[in-house]
Amino acid sequence: ATPTAITCALARLNRQGILIKNSQALETLPEISHIVFDKTGTLTEGQFSVSQVSLLSTQYGEAEVLNFIANLERYSEHPIARAFAPYLTEPLQLQQVSVAVGAGISGSWQQRQLKVGSAAFCQLSEVSNAMVYLVIDGEPIAAVELSDQIRAEVPALVAKLQQQGYRLGMLTGDSSEQAEQISQQLQLDFMVKGCSPEQKVAQIQQLIADGHKVLMLGDGINDSPGFNAAHISVAVHSGADLSKNQADVVLLKPDVSLVLDLVAGGKQSARTIKQNL
Ligand code: ADP
Ligand code: MG
Repeated sequence: ATPTAITCALARLNRQGILIKNSQALETLPEISHIVFDKTGTLTEGQFSVSQVSLLSTQYGEAEVLNFIANLERYSEHPIARAFAPYLTEPLQLQQVSVAVGAGISGSWQQRQLKVGSAAFCQLSEVSNAMVYLVIDGEPIAAVELSDQIRAEVPALVAKLQQQGYRLGMLTGDSSEQAEQISQQLQLDFMVKGCSPEQKVAQIQQLIADGHKVLMLGDGINDSPGFNAAHISVAVHSGADLSKNQADVVLLKPDVSLVLDLVAGGKQSARTIKQNL
């Protein structure tokens, strides 16, 4: 490849708000057949708010339940955690707090074992639409529904990428019905919900084993394993520390549709390189 063609392409993409950290990615771009999206913060805004609390026990009231969750969420950097911050009414001295990425948080308070997180993490069966559960001493206490919005630019992005022949899928740790609703609304080609970070990797590896070239798009928050498994990884601007994520490509503006400019840039530089051979 001619270094000047690549340098020009990198500079042009940079002006559009796309930072290519690994220039090999530019050469692989024209071969990509499948684009895999993370849900939270990538297809959606990642700005959660609490929409409903279902009490599963009569032991605690709603305000108390939300205060327990908010106290545990102080230890998490997940976008879900921010939704509970307004409900912290009384700080609790928690002990032995441990955060399980893509799953939840556990800790103890006055000899009681608290767990907040997915149904799988809390070892509970799903309550319709709930994304977060609270368990105390093994007893189910509450199921919380959270709402999040599809990013405004995403429906048009999905349609355009499909017109260009890409197969699009969503891999999400969310196991609620909202995951299905989003996938149906966007008419994605495939979707796997309730994935642990390891299961996301296994899904990507399966696509690769089937002979596909995979680009993974995420917000860079707990996406590193999937990023490493894909041929190309792209992190959407999320306000998170850029140096922390290992993505090949970083979108510098909070606009996922820059992916269209990215794939166009990859194809254009491949043409320029061929002409110059
Ligand atoms: P996604 O794949 O949509 O980005 P994650 O893998 O980050 O989702 O999280 C998967 C699921 O784990 C969430 O839907 C939620 O049920 C649970 N979870 C993860 N982090 C937290 C947290 N800080 N508090 C409560 N639940 C959490
Ligand atoms: Mg995520």
